[in-house]
Amino acid sequence: MVSGKNYIGNQLSAKGTTTYQTFNPKLNINNQYVFTEATSEEIDEAVQLAHQAFKEFRNVPGEKRAEFLNAIADEIMALDNELIEVYMSESGLPEGRAKGERGRTVFQLQSFAALVKDENWRENTIDLPNYERAPIPKPDLRKTLIPLGSTVVFGASNFPLAYSTAGGDTASALAAGCPVIVKSHPMHAGTGELIASAIVKAAEKTGMPNGVFSNLNSSGIEVGEQLVKHPQVKAVGFTGSIRGGRALMDLAAKRSEPIPVFAEMGSINPVIITSNAIANRGESIADTYAKSINLGTGQFCTNPGLLLTIDGAETNTFIQDLAQKTTAIDPQCMLHPNIKSNYTRLGSEVSSQNGLEVISKYEAAVEENFAPSQVSTVSGKDFLSNPKMHQEVFGPFSVVVRCKDEAELIEIIDGLEGQLTGTILAEKEDYNNLSNIIDSLQNRVGRIIFNGVPTGVEVCESMTHGGPYPASSDSRFTAVGIGSIRRWVRPFSYQDFPKELLPQSLQ
Ligand code: NAP
Repeated sequence: MVSGKNYIGNQLSAKGTTTYQTFNPKLNINNQYVFTEATSEEIDEAVQLAHQAFKEFRNVPGEKRAEFLNAIADEIMALDNELIEVYMSESGLPEGRAKGERGRTVFQLQSFAALVKDENWRENTIDLPNYERAPIPKPDLRKTLIPLGSTVVFGASNFPLAYSTAGGDTASALAAGCPVIVKSHPMHAGTGELIASAIVKAAEKTGMPNGVFSNLNSSGIEVGEQLVKHPQVKAVGFTGSIRGGRALMDLAAKRSEPIPVFAEMGSINPVIITSNAIANRGESIADTYAKSINLGTGQFCTNPGLLLTIDGAETNTFIQDLAQKTTAIDPQCMLHPNIKSNYTRLGSEVSSQNGLEVISKYEAAVEENFAPSQVSTVSGKDFLSNPKMHQEVFGPFSVVVRCKDEAELIEIIDGLEGQLTGTILAEKEDYNNLSNIIDSLQNRVGRIIFNGVPTGVEVCESMTHGGPYPASSDSRFTAVGIGSIRRWVRPFSYQDFPKELLPQSLQ
């Protein structure tokens, strides 16, 4: 049952007077629940509780933390249809997607539970002493990983479950031993509160300290800003726009004690299609990419926003095919009117740039909050000279760049901002000529997909979901998969410690 209140540790609380509602984009009406924004006092209470909880939680054995994470997964499943219905009403996304995302969220929690059940994830190392060494004796040194402290998590609008309240950031931070305070996303506050109730229940059932988790409502940026500035907060996880992520990075850097912000942000995910691939299977590529551009109304951080081709005999036919197949897909609902108005505004801005030609535009009238897809084309020269065309237009929007040769293609890749993914569509006869493209792309992205689509991020140990700035704030880490736990820990060394005082895993 959604109450509209904040969770300050295990207690519901609504001391404030600022209220807001979420919105059903399909029905174009407000949802019934009224949410009360957290006050400054409640924010401070949540952080102080987390600070106290950290003293105990950091030493909770891995096995018990695993129990907690598994219990969260169970409590999420126990929310059953209520969760699915609130999710759908707040996002306009269909039931299949809601259930799929719930499955992914539960799987992530269970994966971290399996990881921290024993202490192997801490990458412990031991250097034995040599006290007889001359002239300086060698000490006994033992290194492990320890949690950073209270962590604030901001989720994105486009993943109300998997990248939000109990999403990858929260699951990995709790697994590491860091209490979490979630700044709830205003567009899916009801989904967020239900998930928060599951986390609180799991914390109580498994005996976790009060304050290990809080969920704060907010309808603007102030709650998030106060959290990032709070001296007892030691790390931030963010998934969202480049503008939002950068604002939080700057805020964290200006603190008297700067803290890390692990921000996963926007991306246009370049796709390189060789002339041979177009000649051999252009129609099938056009079909696959029309679907990928439109998947989830284009509201994925891995949406293919940029297709790079080298002009060849079949390029025109391929572009016409792509235009026709994209227009054949009916527009779908966007998550929220704000996202739709940003899509329209940024799409028009990019479309009005010199040299850009819109080749597929859905002309029929579309329902309110629904987004018509758009594919445009531009020469490599015009694209290179105009960075406005390089920005993310969040939605079913893609630009096909026609390069005159490989040198121009490489120049474009080298000039792109950091990206989450890059994709290469190529034939066997291209393999001997791909090394320059792969090298350039590797320098700009976190993951290269070969003969596939960038949409779809597998949750597993070998996944890298991140990339050079601004795809993420720190390209050394992944936000997806069990490796993402490394964001919330720091290395720590014990020197010449008596065995009895060492953690068991280092004895
Ligand atoms: P968003 O507008 O940046 O919002 C994300 C969260 O950050 C919201 O809670 C928002 O609060 C808060 N926020 C934004 N600017 C802030 C500021 N200056 N100070 C404090 N808080 C701030 O992003 P979104 O529209 O929800 O999500 C879509 C974006 O996320 C797209 O760009 C997409 O590519 C990206 N994304 C990236 C990944 C990834 O893994 N890299 C995954 C999914 C989505 P308010 O709403 O209250 O302002």
